[in-house]
Amino acid sequence: MSYEYSYAQICAQVNAALDVRRVVEYIGWETEKLVRSGDIYLGMCPIHHEKMFRTLELNPRNNTYECKHVNCPGNAPSDLLDLIVKSSRKSLPEVLLNLANHFGPDQFRLTDRQMEFLADLVNQVREYENAQDASPDTQAS
Ligand SMILES: [Zn+2]
Repeated sequence: MSYEYSYAQICAQVNAALDVRRVVEYIGWETEKLVRSGDIYLGMCPIHHEKMFRTLELNPRNNTYECKHVNCPGNAPSDLLDLIVKSSRKSLPEVLLNLANHFGPDQFRLTDRQMEFLADLVNQVREYENAQDASPDTQAS
């Protein structure tokens, strides 16, 4: 598999093209509370549903985030895709496909082949989840 069609490449490509303010709007949690503070943005964390303190730090330079709340799953530096995954509780392939559909594949310079690859991944995740959901009781006839 060439690098262009690898999962890691798609993740890096999408994350790099994201805009931190648009990501906060996309997630839709306390969007009006987002403020700029020097080189970073501070906001309400959508993962642990913060309403009082700006524990969420967003770095537009490398498109990473970290929540300063010690009990939050986002309490370690990671990329913006991880913020969306943990906020939406969707799988990473689903998040990537939803972002591409929401902002348009061109925004992330995703080719048709890459979009097909993502759609295949999402189908695989759903098949896997459906298989996990099927309990022995419902399978018995
Ligand atoms: Zn948090």
